[in-house]
Amino acid sequence: MAETTFKCDVCGNEFDTSTLKEFFDESGRRLELCPQDLDAKMNEAGSVHGGPGEKKEAAAYDDDGPRTGPYGEREAPAQR
Ligand SMILES: [Zn+2]
Repeated sequence: MAETTFKCDVCGNEFDTSTLKEFFDESGRRLELCPQDLDAKMNEAGSVHGGPGEKKEAAAYDDDGPRTGPYGEREAPAQR
């Protein structure tokens, strides 16, 4: 059965997967966030750039984070 919800890594609430936002923090750690917490993270980071997500086509990346592979490349980071 397909997963239809995900748990936000910040607030811990469950949301519909269609609202999932991916954010890579300054250490390249991947977070699955609800839209509200993505906004908060982007404000916190100050500066972000776009890049490929693992589940989504586009994700937000902290500008202090890794800019070159695997996160900076135009392909999804390898699953660990
Ligand atoms: Zn949240």
